[in-house]
Amino acid sequence: MLIPGSCHCGNITFGLTWEPEPMQIPARACDCSFCTRHGGVWTSKPTGSLKIVVADPLLVSRYSFGTKTAEFHICSRCGVVPVVTSGIEGRLYAVVSVNAFDGVASSLVQRAAATFDAESEDVRLTRRKRNWIADVEYREGSA
Ligand SMILES: [Zn+2]
Repeated sequence: MLIPGSCHCGNITFGLTWEPEPMQIPARACDCSFCTRHGGVWTSKPTGSLKIVVADPLLVSRYSFGTKTAEFHICSRCGVVPVVTSGIEGRLYAVVSVNAFDGVASSLVQRAAATFDAESEDVRLTRRKRNWIADVEYREGSA
């Protein structure tokens, strides 16, 4: 299954390949101070592959806080945050926002609360290496 997603204005788009086709998509409603304010609900398929395309990188604000090990890619034109990336040991990992999905039945998405605030940085990076999408292509400029 190829899951398309984008910010509202289309500056940031992604395609997440999820095989085998999911019966449900587990999503984490993160309760960190940023995601609470933004309504961030994230998913990832560790064995999936993700292609992120940013049409105009000047219209993307990258925001980090706390351990500064993750970057929220915020479209500065429309304000949506479709993806988060984390560079760990030379590899780019990512999660995507289920709120940015295009044309995916919402009944497929199983939302659950998630808390990561108490994690140490080591524990956090280890979890991301295990759970986040590990095959990420990031491209700038129009196709
Ligand atoms: Zn946008």
